[in-house]
Amino acid sequence: MSLSEIQNRIHAEERRVGREVGSTRLIAVSKVQPNERVAEVLAQGHRLFGENKVQEAAGKWPVFRAQYDDVEVHLLGPLQTNKVRQAMGLFQAIHSLDRPKLAKVLARLAQELGHCPDLFIQVNTGEEEQKAGVMPAAADAFITECRDLDLPIVGLMCIPPEGEEPSLHFALLRKIAERNGIAGLSMGMSSDFERAVAMGASHVRVGSAIFGARDYG
Ligand SMILES: *Cc1c(COP(=O)(O)O)cnc(C)c1O
Repeated sequence: MSLSEIQNRIHAEERRVGREVGSTRLIAVSKVQPNERVAEVLAQGHRLFGENKVQEAAGKWPVFRAQYDDVEVHLLGPLQTNKVRQAMGLFQAIHSLDRPKLAKVLARLAQELGHCPDLFIQVNTGEEEQKAGVMPAAADAFITECRDLDLPIVGLMCIPPEGEEPSLHFALLRKIAERNGIAGLSMGMSSDFERAVAMGASHVRVGSAIFGARDYG
């Protein structure tokens, strides 16, 4: 599917459910994709991208940013505390804040550097052992803890379990956000972004549907 087709489908879904057209931001997830494909999407005018790894983004985005100074890159994957300083220089938003230790390091460096990327707290809505994210039952307390550290919490993020109806997870994420007065919802990927738009996503994260399958070879 082309970028414009995805954008059209998002707009159609916004219209269908009575949301303002253009109120969902599309993050083009460029992890593992060849630079030529990323360059094509940039040339089509898209400026918001997502990456999974600090190291990969560090090798890719400074060059593109020299060409397009309005490009915005969000970190979607897990963040180790020893890479926070580097991440804060590379990304305009981080979607994977999921533990107190990481929150404390972000807060300390935000003080030191005088700026902080927008932060999304990742919630493990499926309570999956192997998946990152704060458990739903612990989310309210963790949000409070982050706010007490003066961190700019703009949203919540989730990755629903394989094989489950994603809308149930999107609804849970939305409920946690609403009761905490959080506006941003980072949810929905290639296979379910329309359902996420219907559930009120502020950001959908679409990779393979835009760029084609990732070649990890
Ligand atoms: C890779 C990835 C995506 C995009 O996945 P697609 O299925 O290719 O759309 C979205 N969110 C996160 C956190 C990812 O790691």
